[in-house]
Parts: sequence; C-alpha cells; structure tokens
Amino acid sequence: MSETAAKIIDGKVHAERVRSRVADEVARLRADYGLQPGLAVVLVGEDPASQIYVRSKGEHSLAVGMHSVTHRLPADASQHELLRLVGELNADPAIHGILVQLPLPKHLDEQAVIAAISPDKDVDGLHVVNAGRLANGVPALIPCTPLGSMILLRETVGDLTGLNAVVVGRSVLVGRPMAQLLLQADCTVTIAHSRTRDLQAVCRQADILVAAVGRPRMIRGDWIKPGAAVIDVGINRVPFDDPVKAAAGRTKVVGDVNFKEAAQVAGWITPAPGGVGLMTVAVLLQNTLTAAKRIAGLD
Ligand code: NDP
Repeated sequence: MSETAAKIIDGKVHAERVRSRVADEVARLRADYGLQPGLAVVLVGEDPASQIYVRSKGEHSLAVGMHSVTHRLPADASQHELLRLVGELNADPAIHGILVQLPLPKHLDEQAVIAAISPDKDVDGLHVVNAGRLANGVPALIPCTPLGSMILLRETVGDLTGLNAVVVGRSVLVGRPMAQLLLQADCTVTIAHSRTRDLQAVCRQADILVAAVGRPRMIRGDWIKPGAAVIDVGINRVPFDDPVKAAAGRTKVVGDVNFKEAAQVAGWITPAPGGVGLMTVAVLLQNTLTAAKRIAGLD
C-alpha cells in the first residue's frame, strides 16, 4: 500500500489558477471599459498576524492589476473614526471591495462595523444582506474561505449532486456559508457542532467532509468514509512533535484533521497548511472582481 491513498488537493496550484483567471479578467476590464477593480483593506492596531495578512492582501491585489489601498488606524481608534472611514470607502467610486481585518480591538463593535459596509462592497461576505442572499440562492458576495473550499471541491471531485456532505462547525465565517454552498450544489447537507451526538458516526456518513472547528487533528482516520473528499479548514498552532523544538517554544500549524491517518482512507484531502488557507486571499481577489463588475453592471 502506498504511503497515502488519497489524492492531495494542492491549494497552491488552485490558488494560482484563481489568481491568473482574475488577472486576465482585470486586464480585460481595464482594456475594454477603463474599469480597474479596487480593494481597500482596513487594519486597526498592530496585531502581528493581521499585519501579515493585510500586507499579503495588498501585494496580491496589486499583482493582479487591481487598485489597492491599505488604511492603518491606531489600536485606540474610536468606533466613530472607523465608521467614518468605512463611510468614505462606501462612497469612493475607485473602491469596489472593502475588507476590515478582523478581529478588531476589544473596544470596537465588530457587528456594527460589518453592518456599515455597503453590501455591494462587502468582499468578506459577512454582511447579513449577503448571508441572506446566499441563503436564498441569489447572487451574493460569499465569504472567501468557504467559497475557496467549494472551488477546490468543484475542481477535484467535480459534480457533487446527491453526495452526503457533513460540515463540522457552524460559524458565520465558515461553517454556515459552506453548508449553504454545498446545498446549492445539490448535496444532502448535515451541519455538526459542539453539541452533535456521536460526531464520529455523523462524519463517517460523509462523501464530503469539511472540518472548520479550530481543534488540532480532532478528526481521526477512522471517522472518515473510505474515498471521501476531506476539506480541512482548520488552522491551529501546536508545539512541534520534536521535543527539542517544542522545548524551545517553537510551534507549527496543523489542521482540524489528523492528516497522516485521514490520507490513508480519504479519496481526496487538503493538507493544512498548503490547502484551503492559500485559497482565501485568491478568492478575496475574485470577490473584488465580482463586486466591481456588479457595481458597473457588467456581471
Ligand atoms: P469558530 O470558533 O467560530 O467555530 C468553530 C465551530 O466548531 C463552532 O461551530 C463550534 O460549535 C464547533 N466546535 C467546536 N468544538 C467542537 C467539537 N468538539 N466538536 C464539534 N464541533 C465543535 O471558528 P471558525 O469557523 O472561525 O474557524 C474554524 C477553523 O478554521 C479555525 O481553526 C480557524 O483558524 C480556521 N479558519 C481558517 C481560515 C482559512 O483561511 N483557512 C479562515 C477562517 C478560519 P458551537 O457552535 O457549538 O460552539
């Protein structure tokens, strides 16, 4: 038997494909209509992980030919200041996508900030209008991570009609929109969460298993139906297995799925890191393009 039975879904390859499609379309829009999609990213405070994400979003949007601006507010910025900036970006015709990097410092009201973003420019897909549109099956801006996961499934498994899909996790950011997308793809969808009874048995029913939990390697090999497609959304920092590195305080990223075990059983699997995470920024660019086309009436 080979080391791994599953086909590995390489997030890098698929993300590059998305970025290249976006770059081609941006070039066409600029040439044919003089329309340059624009993304504004807002960062409040100096959280190191958020700074890395924001820099990466800015660089990638420039690389595909978009207009890109980053607004940095101090950690003690007021709700009023932040809402005023969002209002300015809503009104700015050069900006088609607005992303406020989360989490925000504790004194700010995240929900109020998300609600203030124009739903047409809400490229994170977190506004209730977009969640409602997605639930109703009409065109919406869809959160990047679940949409990226769906692209991976479409480009590997293909037609998902009639398959049993289990999504573990029910967050607004990942689990719920993922379940809606799978339903739209004509899967029979189960959403599992922390109160689900016999989660292992539920997972074993899945032809498609999406793990969005935030618990390192929780899903074991014997939870997986042979041949299933496994999408591991989890990003968890854990100490190195090597005791010397662990003692030095070094950490690494692992998913919610025990990759070594699961890869022996699954038909397809995303590694973590190297899978879904790489799709997220690529899909943000795709969402900005979608928003620009819809705002210009070109969709
Ligand atoms: P949340 O913490 O918002 O949601 C976690 C979900 O998992 C909840 O619905 C919770 O259930 C459920 N859950 C927790 N423990 C269990 C358990 N023991 N059994 C079953 N279900 C459980 O997390 P997110 O959805 O925001 O993120 C999930 C993971 O995905 C994290 O690791 C995060 O870092 C990662 N992530 C990765 C992204 C990427 O780009 N790849 C982007 C976003 C997130 P309940 O509702 O009952 O509490």
